[in-house]
Amino acid sequence: ASSIPKVHPNCDARTPPYDKLRRNYETVRRVLGSNQHLTLAEKILYSHLEKPEETLSGQSTDSIRGNAYLKLKVDRVAMQDASAQMALLQFMSCGLPMTAVPASIHCDHMIVGERGADVDLPESIKGNKEVFDFLESAAKKYGIEFWAPGSGIIHQIVLENYSAPGLMMLGTDSHTPNGGGLGAICIGVGGADAVDALVDAPWELKAPKVLGVKLEGKLDGWASPKDVILNLAGQLTVRGGTGYIVEYHGEGVRSLSCTGMATICNMGAEIGATTSLFPFTPSMSRYLQATGRGPIAEKATAMGEFLSADSKAEYDKVVTIDLSKLEPHINGPFTPDLSTPLSKFKDAIQEQAWPLDLSAGLIGSCTNSSYQDMTRVESIVNQAKEAGLKPKVDFFVTPGSEQIRATLERDQTLNALESAGGVILANACGPCIGQWKRTDGVKRGDTNAILTSFNRNFRARNDGNPDTLNFLASPEIVTAMVYSGRMDFNPTSDSIKTPSGSTFKFSPPHGEELPRNGFEAGREDFFPVKAVPDPTTPVVVSPTSTRLALLDPFPPFPESELENLSVLVKVKGKCTTDHISAAGKWLAYKGHLENISNNTLIGALNAETDAVNTVVDFDGSETSIPDLARRWKERGQGWLVVAEWNYGEGSAREHAALQPRYLGGSIVLTKSFARIHETNLKKQGLIPLTFVNETDYDLISPRDKVTTVGLLDMLKNGGAGAVKLQVVKEKTGEKIEIETAHTFSKDQAEWVLAGSALNLLGKMAKA
Ligand code: SF4
Repeated sequence: ASSIPKVHPNCDARTPPYDKLRRNYETVRRVLGSNQHLTLAEKILYSHLEKPEETLSGQSTDSIRGNAYLKLKVDRVAMQDASAQMALLQFMSCGLPMTAVPASIHCDHMIVGERGADVDLPESIKGNKEVFDFLESAAKKYGIEFWAPGSGIIHQIVLENYSAPGLMMLGTDSHTPNGGGLGAICIGVGGADAVDALVDAPWELKAPKVLGVKLEGKLDGWASPKDVILNLAGQLTVRGGTGYIVEYHGEGVRSLSCTGMATICNMGAEIGATTSLFPFTPSMSRYLQATGRGPIAEKATAMGEFLSADSKAEYDKVVTIDLSKLEPHINGPFTPDLSTPLSKFKDAIQEQAWPLDLSAGLIGSCTNSSYQDMTRVESIVNQAKEAGLKPKVDFFVTPGSEQIRATLERDQTLNALESAGGVILANACGPCIGQWKRTDGVKRGDTNAILTSFNRNFRARNDGNPDTLNFLASPEIVTAMVYSGRMDFNPTSDSIKTPSGSTFKFSPPHGEELPRNGFEAGREDFFPVKAVPDPTTPVVVSPTSTRLALLDPFPPFPESELENLSVLVKVKGKCTTDHISAAGKWLAYKGHLENISNNTLIGALNAETDAVNTVVDFDGSETSIPDLARRWKERGQGWLVVAEWNYGEGSAREHAALQPRYLGGSIVLTKSFARIHETNLKKQGLIPLTFVNETDYDLISPRDKVTTVGLLDMLKNGGAGAVKLQVVKEKTGEKIEIETAHTFSKDQAEWVLAGSALNLLGKMAKA
């Protein structure tokens, strides 16, 4: 292992383009005028406009927010292994020799968490060799920094290396906003959006509104940054941040560590926010210095007012949280916004009849594996050790990166966790993304409760078992509860019996913000491959591969309305991207559209049959959703999906849009969409529409025939105009009309007309 140098050799290449941003910011100020007071989010976004003068002339912050479409030139792209495959396959089809902006690939999602890093990592590398080789060769050819399997989780590595105050970055993962902990605008997107940036096309975003979260006071005792976002998720719900950037401000901000702020921003994805960010603080400066980026801290300091909101800036909504009064929270199961203060969790268990026994505790991940998190955990473990206690259930630790793992190893923190019975997994996603092979005897169908310090707790996400109730908490709360083995144990007030018969009560944890002796860089073979494009590198995709396949372009939109589509499935309740394109074993097929399409909507609950992944064909036969979609595709029967609220929430998974398109879908009609997914649908040439009257959802049924009215005109008019649906009921032949709304911009309409955004980019690149 080697230490992080005081100044990282790539520091310059990782510095945001501050000179350009300063010039753009001056233009923004001049064009908007001195009476416009800007939030930090607006300063950074507008300074990344392709044409700030043109976009902002005659506008005010009020007229822009929630209305204008911003064409943005982003500074950097990061991609994780699962989503990078499709992003790169799409980038390759544009025929360019290198990426237009710096980019990185992170091999993290395809690594199993089971018996510990030493066994799991080599096995996962062997099992995914074809994919990792493809990613590495494409990285080499196009000049992308390649972070090999085991080097760490995308968001932790981005925080340690790339995120910086004022930067604008796209990442092909929904928790990309983690980088907002370093004052950057980092947005989770699908691969097709990443390709915009990679080919130097402007990336379009409907200007978000800005939700201000005012932090007062100072965290104390057991309360941690995780509890800020667990509490906020409870207040705002999974839909509350939709259409907003969450901007933290107030005196309380200055008391938080940089990594704590990253945890808060990371989980902003759980409230549907476009992204979250904090203003530049001394703790960010300290973190930059500790990670070899002191010169960036100096340049950021010189950017002055650019890196914080104007004192008179107004937010569209404000939520205030008093950190001094915040108590730990536990959120879940199955949704991150079901938030219960720890002091009331015992009652909630009884009321909801949740299991009393805890079956496993899992800490770490991209969300909570900072030095501060882990040293606070260590203080809990050391207290328990002194009292003679041992964890009662399996206890897993996922370091977020090799850098943090090596540093914790050097400082004996990992040793403390291991000697307490903790299993140290690979520096990768593992159990957070369904790559957890349980060895504790809990089988699919066994009702049980787990606690994790991860960010997301959709049903079956961790172990594939829909009956695992997964609760989210801070790593220190998870760890303390592992020693009791009970869900109704409150470590802040309850005692545990020790083996010697006495009673023991935990004291509040304490940790250190940053390692006193600096960070360790860790294993050198995990350092990224230098990003110099080498056009001679062959990128091989075997025609017989089951895991990777080159893409054929989708056909352009017809010169007509869409006629006689049929409703494939009417989805009831929550439908996340996990329901539309499941993870787990399907991660293996991320680069093979034909094969992964076999998981399309298999998690969706059919309102007609009240069963998951069961639909009915015209002849009355029951089958699975992907099977019916394929049957209809073969018969030339176009189709649409009908669904409820916030359709496509969750991961920024473009497969959830690619697959329905590939299988012959044309329209998704819902009560509302999650932002990223709605854009992803348009990028792949699908039409996302919403009910003007939500109750019309009740009027439409599976197999009803649907013809659009006004769709072609709307697309040809650059998104202007209404679209109606004429519906013929399958059972009665009755005709009804449904009014719909849409959010198409001119560019988005062009994507659909061309067949997909990629078709359009390919044309532009060749022109
Ligand atoms: Fe990986 Fe989980 Fe973080 Fe996603 S949320 S990057 S799956 S650790």
